[in-house]
Amino acid sequence: ESGLYVVATPIGNLADMSQRAIDLLEAAEIVAVEDSRVTGKLLHHLGLKKKMRRYNDHSGEAERESLVAAARGAVVALVSDAGTPLISDPGYKLVRSARAAGVPVYTIPGASAVTAALSICGLPTDRFLFAGFLPNKAKARVETLTELGQVKATLVFYEAGPRLAASLSAIAETYGDREVAVARELTKKFEEVVTGTASELAARYAAQEPKGEIVLIVGPPADDVAYDTGDVDAALREALDTMS
Ligand code: SAM
Repeated sequence: ESGLYVVATPIGNLADMSQRAIDLLEAAEIVAVEDSRVTGKLLHHLGLKKKMRRYNDHSGEAERESLVAAARGAVVALVSDAGTPLISDPGYKLVRSARAAGVPVYTIPGASAVTAALSICGLPTDRFLFAGFLPNKAKARVETLTELGQVKATLVFYEAGPRLAASLSAIAETYGDREVAVARELTKKFEEVVTGTASELAARYAAQEPKGEIVLIVGPPADDVAYDTGDVDAALREALDTMS
């Protein structure tokens, strides 16, 4: 069926490619990619030879329109270098244009570092705010953290090894000692989750810069600890008892 298919690819372990994703890429007439070398390797691994077209959100309107026009009559796949397209990756403008043009847009879901990290880090997952990468500059970083500090939810950031210690220090300074988790190299050989307070982990990573890919997760402010619904029920019953 023709349309634009947004296809998730693995975030490290190639075996995480879903059967649907493989089938779709096989059926695709055009694969819109962030970097043809990266996706070329994946296609090669899958034994597929495909017409790739470089696409990102800085691509011109003409390029976008041409992909949307193609998706009217053919299967067009959008992939990024790793994980789910549009999640700190290109694709937003393309999806928006396709929808506006009435071209069907389908999802082939799969890995994303945000959900992979949240699912194993042990911090509350009932409410979370994904904020992508923090700004590089110290002042902008503190401004962003201050704004996000108001939110009563777990915060999720993408990070890079060389910046991790500085980000953790800024978090400790702005929020005090919230519980944080550093999820590294998910689905790969050296997958690891390290938890502690922001200042503990700032010291740890200042002493040794971490290697590989990183998701940084910050627990919610203290007054928003997720309650066990059992506790809430018990407290309610007790309150009702004292009222009667
Ligand atoms: N679209 C991707 C997704 O759905 O996860 C994210 C793309 S973003 C440009 C790349 C960042 O995601 C990395 O810098 C890192 O912060 C995070 N990331 C990607 N793969 C990861 C992995 N295997 N382990 C930990 N973090 C990862």
